[in-house]
Amino acid sequence: MGLSEIEARIDKACKAASRPREDVQLIAVSKVQPNDRVEAVLRQGHRLFGENKVQEAAAKWPAFKAKYDGVSVHLIGPLQSNKTRQAMELFDAIHTLDRPKLAKTIARLAQEMGTCPDLFIQINTGEEPQKAGVAPSDADGFIADCRGLDLPIKGLMCIPPVDETPSLHFALLQKLAKRNDLPGLSMGMSSDFEQAIAFGATHVRVGSAIFGERTSSA
Ligand SMILES: *Cc1c(COP(=O)(O)O)cnc(C)c1O
Repeated sequence: MGLSEIEARIDKACKAASRPREDVQLIAVSKVQPNDRVEAVLRQGHRLFGENKVQEAAAKWPAFKAKYDGVSVHLIGPLQSNKTRQAMELFDAIHTLDRPKLAKTIARLAQEMGTCPDLFIQINTGEEPQKAGVAPSDADGFIADCRGLDLPIKGLMCIPPVDETPSLHFALLQKLAKRNDLPGLSMGMSSDFEQAIAFGATHVRVGSAIFGERTSSA
């Protein structure tokens, strides 16, 4: 597989769902991938990437951003409070706002810095104890609290449980977003992005299907 095949599959999934292609952004998830693979995708003209670790992104992206215009990098992995400032400086969007303490820290830093990345709230749609994210039953309250802090909440994000039908989780996320008037839905990975598009995904996060298998886990 590769970038052009994934682009073609996204086109097709948008047509099947009667959605305009420009409503879906492809986040190429470059975590752990060797730099030559990442650069190959940059050379093909792709400009939107996802990373799941602040440290790794800080080591990789400043140089690529200096070399290629218009690059955006989104954080799609968990954010520790003590790395919030660095993350806000580095990323154009954070998809993993998942707790009140982090919301307060981001709000305080946004005041101080005068700018804030776009934010997505991670919802633990499968209510898995080991997974980050706000419980679906707490979502409405947490979204309201974030809005009360003036945070630029753009949408919701989920990572469905590996052993369950993802579409049930995509449908739940879509319902929560709709009821809270949020336009963004960050959902769908290499194995299920077409289904996510059918349920309204605006940001699909695709890694291995573009770059090849990751050589170490992340
Ligand atoms: C790694 C990762 C992806 C991409 O996974 P693939 O299966 O390689 O497409 C998407 N979202 C998150 C949150 C990830 O950590």
